[in-house]
Amino acid sequence: MAQSLFQEVAEGIYCIETGLYRPGLAAAYLIRSGEQLALIDTGPAKAVPLLLAALDALGLGPEQIAYIMPTHVHLDHAGAAGHLMAACPRAYLVIHPKGAPHLIDPSRLIAGASSVYGEDNFRALFGLPLPVPAERVISAEDGQTFELAGRSLTFIDTPGHANHHGCFLDRSTQGIFSGDTFGIAYQAFTNTQGPWLFAPTTPVAFDPDAWLLSLDKLMGYRPQAMYLTHYGRLDRPDRQVETLRRGIRALADLALREEDQPEGGREIRLRTAVRDYLLAQAQAHGVTLAESEILNLLSLDIELNAQGLEVWLKRRAKHPAA
Ligand SMILES: [Zn+2]
Repeated sequence: MAQSLFQEVAEGIYCIETGLYRPGLAAAYLIRSGEQLALIDTGPAKAVPLLLAALDALGLGPEQIAYIMPTHVHLDHAGAAGHLMAACPRAYLVIHPKGAPHLIDPSRLIAGASSVYGEDNFRALFGLPLPVPAERVISAEDGQTFELAGRSLTFIDTPGHANHHGCFLDRSTQGIFSGDTFGIAYQAFTNTQGPWLFAPTTPVAFDPDAWLLSLDKLMGYRPQAMYLTHYGRLDRPDRQVETLRRGIRALADLALREEDQPEGGREIRLRTAVRDYLLAQAQAHGVTLAESEILNLLSLDIELNAQGLEVWLKRRAKHPAA
């Protein structure tokens, strides 16, 4: 049973299931070097028992964790950060400077997620985040490197999915923990063509131009693999990145077509457009699941993408240069 909680996806890198919604939706990664550990992304607050059980099954303890490193503060990535900081007495939390205040005081994250998911739903699905003590938070700078025993993790500032998103480069596998910056690839959609990648345009800070630049920046490291939070290891990112770039542009274009439309009914039109686009892309990739099954697996992403695009349009209307 414990074995199904995690999978070693590269030397000393374990992909841990965090139990959000369904298996295969949101991962956390444990990196091991000698006796020292780091955790990249944490899953929601409710994932804490699963994470501690995975550590235990590996014969490891929370006191060995040196760094907890959410790629950004969205609660599928950082919701368990405060609980884990309480459970891991030696750990420092490493986070983008723009994300740090929201983990020290998670009240705005809680309010934001409650408005996106509905308050009761949010609490039941995610659990409530705890604050992280400010004196244990490291605001990471672009290029800053964190050492585990004999292994280094370098923070790369990658705005686009969120303005406070960072990725972590593991030089020993030339792999990048990409959070949401390299998109989503659910394993249910992987076929002989490979994984099917799409872009999460989640509220509230989607920025397609910044995102495309961040992808160029990541590819500049010539990565051999991406470790996706949603979900698992992806090889040869150089063969996938163009699909993702096209997907980001396509979703942005689909929103821009709304700019000369009346605001009434926009939410429904955007949701329909996002749904039709993602379904067509999955089918073009050769996914043979029934249409209803594809839509079921994508239902949350359709909703979040549509909401994120709507927020982006509002921001553009307020600041026409943005
Ligand atoms: Zn995410």
